[in-house]
Amino acid sequence: MILSVHCMQKIAKVVVEIALDREFDYRIPEALAAQVRIGSRVRIPFGHSMTRGYVVGLADHSDRHDLKALDSLVSPKPLLDETMLKLARWIGDYYAATIEQAIRTVLPCAVRRHGARFREQRDVCATELARDAALLEKLRPKNPGQASALDHLLSHGTMAVPELVAAAGVSASVIKSLEKKKLVLISLGTRRRDPLAAQIILPTQPLTLFPEQAEALAMVKQSIDTLKPSAILLHGVTGSGKTEVYLQAIRYVLDKGQGAIVLVPEISLTPQTVERFRGRFGDAIAVLHSHLSDGERHDEWYRIYESKARIVIGARSALFAPVEKLGLIVVDEEHEPSYKQADVPRYHARDVAVMRGQMEGCAVLLGSASPALESFYNVRRGKYGLAVLTHRVDHRQMPVMRIIDMRVEAEREGHVNILSRELAEAIKSRLDRAEQTMLFLNRRGFATTVICPACGFVATCDQCSIKLTYHKNGENLRCHMCGRTAKVPARCPACGDRTIKFTGIGTQRIEAIVKTFFPKARVQRMDADTTSRKLAFHEILGAFKARKIDILIGTQMIAKGLHFPGVTLVGVIYADLSLHMPDFRSAERTFQLLLQVAGRAGRGDVPGEVIVQTFNPMHPAIQAARRLDYQGFMDQELESRRELVYPPFSHLVCVTLEGPSEETVAMTGRMMVKQLQPKLTPAVKLAGPIPAPFSRIKGQFRYQVILRSPSVKAMSRPLKETLCELKRPAKVRLAVDVDALSMM
Ligand code: ADP
Ligand code: ZN
Repeated sequence: MILSVHCMQKIAKVVVEIALDREFDYRIPEALAAQVRIGSRVRIPFGHSMTRGYVVGLADHSDRHDLKALDSLVSPKPLLDETMLKLARWIGDYYAATIEQAIRTVLPCAVRRHGARFREQRDVCATELARDAALLEKLRPKNPGQASALDHLLSHGTMAVPELVAAAGVSASVIKSLEKKKLVLISLGTRRRDPLAAQIILPTQPLTLFPEQAEALAMVKQSIDTLKPSAILLHGVTGSGKTEVYLQAIRYVLDKGQGAIVLVPEISLTPQTVERFRGRFGDAIAVLHSHLSDGERHDEWYRIYESKARIVIGARSALFAPVEKLGLIVVDEEHEPSYKQADVPRYHARDVAVMRGQMEGCAVLLGSASPALESFYNVRRGKYGLAVLTHRVDHRQMPVMRIIDMRVEAEREGHVNILSRELAEAIKSRLDRAEQTMLFLNRRGFATTVICPACGFVATCDQCSIKLTYHKNGENLRCHMCGRTAKVPARCPACGDRTIKFTGIGTQRIEAIVKTFFPKARVQRMDADTTSRKLAFHEILGAFKARKIDILIGTQMIAKGLHFPGVTLVGVIYADLSLHMPDFRSAERTFQLLLQVAGRAGRGDVPGEVIVQTFNPMHPAIQAARRLDYQGFMDQELESRRELVYPPFSHLVCVTLEGPSEETVAMTGRMMVKQLQPKLTPAVKLAGPIPAPFSRIKGQFRYQVILRSPSVKAMSRPLKETLCELKRPAKVRLAVDVDALSMM
């Protein structure tokens, strides 16, 4: 006999499914005592109506005496187990969100809204009786709807009820009437909406590993068995065989009877990626990402929940998949900023993965060609293990990177050209040889800084060593870290040039210039403007792969892990753009972008070349990228972050206030700071409210308050309290970003 420990407890602590960050005590009725567990979803009387909530705790007694009783269980098996609830609580505390927001994050909407029955689909088929043609003709004049539904059914065979309803254009009650007349039979079927149903996938076998791969795998296996180390950073260039290591590590986990989660950035969650995992593990794979229909997501989630699928591959939110006996979490391309969720709670999937790993006692494997500084630092201080794959599997050389000093170019030509002579010549030689070129411009943050086009000078705050941001409203420059302001110089302080307010090179302008230079070339631009339709993105890439395009021009979008064997030249039009973001991470970003871009060239039989145009040829990020010197750059960058107490030596919280009236937004910001300040310890640095680098978006004025401290708790907790107390005008929106990646 199984004894349940839960029936001893009489009180359930319940979080209600409306935005309240509180727990309420409810009495557990005798009849439910054996079934109510932590994580159970329950129906409860609340105020004057019934609502739903989650049991987040159980207790023997409550301080209150007038407790209401739970009404019933929504689902018998809890949708969230204790660990996931603990994780949700952690997310709420860490990212200054409510527990209810955190629960929404860990449990997909499709699952919250529809119970397990959402999947059960009612099928309808015609009975023998309905096949009587005379009867149908008698029905037609009286009940044209019923007749039409029968017509459809007789010609299609069995259909799902909603299908038939849609096809015949009738209401569901028509089908009911037919059922009453015994003309149709309705039965319960479970059909799985399979996002991969249409694909035929060839099974693959594990490859014999190269020594470095074998070493890495051994380390991962040890981590899976002993949790020593509990997290591993796998650093290897693109094509060095990281994915093969993931596949074999997952096989190991499966053989132990455990499950695995693989996170990939949304952009690289292509059919090819999924195919590789399906090819190895077949139906044991479930897929979760944002492009699934509600039904597909629901069904995939339940396949995992019922342990029919033991491996989950997906984007950010797949991290919360209810995999039982989790043995391994893989985070591929762990440095990708898209792992940070843009909505509240703004969690970072890599960091939460490490936390879930700790809570579940499972190994975490982070893979990247250019690991984030935070991860590198965690290796340095012994928190993560490190495995390195130094070569590409095909032993192809990394491309040669040439740095073009645009100041020299400007002096030689008398003015600044967008295409340097070297780059133009290199493109021409590719066109002559029918090879492909990618031109790359990272436009982000461009308009907000002041750059001298003649010498590349950029105004920087000497206190904070980040770029000053140009604000049109006040015609001044502002430090986004400390709030200091400065005048816009009339001439460049470095070279005296008067055209200092450099404006407007974008991909569009480059496209026009390239087309005038090479009128016969087939040129295509790809950026957020040309790819607003979901399809256009794949269309352009397809055409490029099929070599129907000679020169592809784009923003960072084209730097992501795409493989084009025909590309032998990559040009970076203006490497300084990402250097000039008003953000202390700009050097790291630039370095990573250049490494990624370099990885795009020369994947075929011809070695590649990368040409980088810059005004700052000696900048450490650019020099280190040229030497492909990851460790060197990161060590140097860590030192400067340590000096200025920037992450990873502190945590940074960015609170953004937004609203239609600048006055009100600024005032709310000041009010918030006034209430927050007394709650903060002296170790917390606070700046603001100051206008955000993008001080106005879509008519909304934006202000920011920036907090920094070695302890997240020292900021999250007071912030959460303050936000609860703060009386803010309804039109002012407020978002808290803990460990903000960007401060735009
Ligand atoms: P990454 O994930 O680092 O980009 P992949 O795992 O995709 O690298 O490997 C790149 C290519 O090399 C793939 O086509 C893969 O099948 C192949 N490959 C990986 N490991 C081996 C191996 N040990 N032997 C032969 N081919 C391999
Ligand atoms: Zn400053």
